[in-house]
Amino acid sequence: MESQDRPRDRNRFEIAIICALALEANAVLCSLDEIWHDAPPIYGRAPGDQNHYVFGRSGRHPVVVLTLAGMGNVQSAGAAASLNMSFGSIQLVLLVGICGAVPFGPGGQEIILGDVIVSEVLVRLDFGRQYPTGFKRKDTILDAPGKPNEEILSLLQRWKSQLMAQQLHINMMQHLTTLMQHPQIETENHISLDQLFAPEYIHRHHIGCTECSLADSVCDIALNASCEELGCDQNMLVYRARRSGCDTRNGPSQQIHLGSIGTADMVMKSAQHRDELAASEGIIAFEMEGAGVWDKFNCLIVKGVCDYADSHKNKKWQGYAAAVAAATAKEILEQYVSHDIAASLTSRFPSSRQVFLAQSADAESQEVQDTNDLVPREIFDKIARDFKRKFPPEQVEDFQSTDLLIFRKALKRLQDEQQRTRELRNLRRIELFMQRIDALGRFVQHLSGSQEILCLI
Ligand SMILES: [Zn+2]
Ligand SMILES: [Zn+2]
Repeated sequence: MESQDRPRDRNRFEIAIICALALEANAVLCSLDEIWHDAPPIYGRAPGDQNHYVFGRSGRHPVVVLTLAGMGNVQSAGAAASLNMSFGSIQLVLLVGICGAVPFGPGGQEIILGDVIVSEVLVRLDFGRQYPTGFKRKDTILDAPGKPNEEILSLLQRWKSQLMAQQLHINMMQHLTTLMQHPQIETENHISLDQLFAPEYIHRHHIGCTECSLADSVCDIALNASCEELGCDQNMLVYRARRSGCDTRNGPSQQIHLGSIGTADMVMKSAQHRDELAASEGIIAFEMEGAGVWDKFNCLIVKGVCDYADSHKNKKWQGYAAAVAAATAKEILEQYVSHDIAASLTSRFPSSRQVFLAQSADAESQEVQDTNDLVPREIFDKIARDFKRKFPPEQVEDFQSTDLLIFRKALKRLQDEQQRTRELRNLRRIELFMQRIDALGRFVQHLSGSQEILCLI
């Protein structure tokens, strides 16, 4: 993608990648095919937007990369709101970085350090009400983040096919191999420090400390010490087949797990609490920024496992885990392109290319034609017909528009209103409608190289 092919303005970026930590952003930036160092002043940002962005290209996608000023859902919500203000056309946000995971998934499958978790469902762990009888978490889709929207679900569905999952994995490992050659990437995966202790075995002084000798008590020194310093007993390690006898230099191949991720503004450092949540919620990983982004964008959380969310955790695996997550995100974007733009539209509307070409040739012959003729009306009308009957007439009137940007804004306004009144069914319908119309716009632009697509219901 040469510089002349870069998006003309910031409203043409459709992919954002958000990272909470500098080491996560470093891995993502190293995985990009281009970084446009001169771009920030060209694209600018909306008034009030406090974020600083890096622009570049991953595969065929222009991407905007954002590093949060700190960890947690409050930070991510504020940053996502600003991102939304500055970049009006973002279709997909990948939240990429590191996480703690449960060592065994719901089906008993082993999860080891360096594996990657991709969110199927986000469970907000700290959102609910405190009753005298205990904390009751709210878990409906309207009250807290939950399942992703239809577009993300269909992407996830692909990877449930064994063939597509295998392809995702193979390509991810290829990206990882390339990424590992980057001079700014940490290549060591510290196999010997991938230690899983029994849940009841606490990380603390095991001899000679009064505070640590009390039941369920850990002193401050022990909290910040390593297992080696405290002499945590190797006999308390849990056996895992994937780590057993593996090559200490290369280790086993990293795996990608789809599943539920728990999010909260707290670091999970208790194996017993971890296992309770895994059992009750089916959670396979824990992170701290998902809810803030999930609320505002189509979002996939892609996180490399750097610890087991227990008291024995250390930071040695963070750099490597971030690299595996960045490699996975890169492959997800590769597949997002092929699935979302050309493939889906051509298969859904096989005659669209002919329709468009016929119309544009006609427009050329008449020199200055009504710009509406540039629209492949049959395609647009089909989408509108699918949805039109589901919207009241006054809303359809709102959609009447002369260009894609105004049209999208009208839909966004309606969507915001619905969000306030929590009319979920209509909200989802509008989302899907917007995605189809946006995809149509991109598709026609892709075919024509034309400047703007005009449309009218
Ligand atoms: Zn102690
Ligand atoms: Zn320990």
